[in-house]
Amino acid sequence: MTQTLDLDIRLGGHSPVAGSMMAQRRSTGERATRAAGFLILFLFIGAGVVFIPPHIPWAAVAIVTGVVLAFKQWRSEYRVQQFDGKCPRCGTELPVKSEEGVRFPLKVTCFECHHEPVVTIRD
Ligand SMILES: [Zn+2]
Repeated sequence: MTQTLDLDIRLGGHSPVAGSMMAQRRSTGERATRAAGFLILFLFIGAGVVFIPPHIPWAAVAIVTGVVLAFKQWRSEYRVQQFDGKCPRCGTELPVKSEEGVRFPLKVTCFECHHEPVVTIRD
């Protein structure tokens, strides 16, 4: 279910800025299923590539990749559809891509001034 969230974007020493986001909330079950799916997929890939010399490094890379991607899926409480928010310091639009999985409080790096405003849901 898509919902529109009102956001506060804060950066120390600057006035908070309002933003908004259209996003789909992911349930705990959905996140767990996706995380388990990635883990299982990369375990199979690891089992497949272990036959290629030098054997262990390929399997280790596949398993580590699976764990990292599974962890990322588990932490993605919202799937972004559209994000509108500007950096409180320089006013540049913050780079949050659609289809990105996020969780609040969300730290976003501003590529213009290289500060990290924190995005939270307004109560
Ligand atoms: Zn900035």
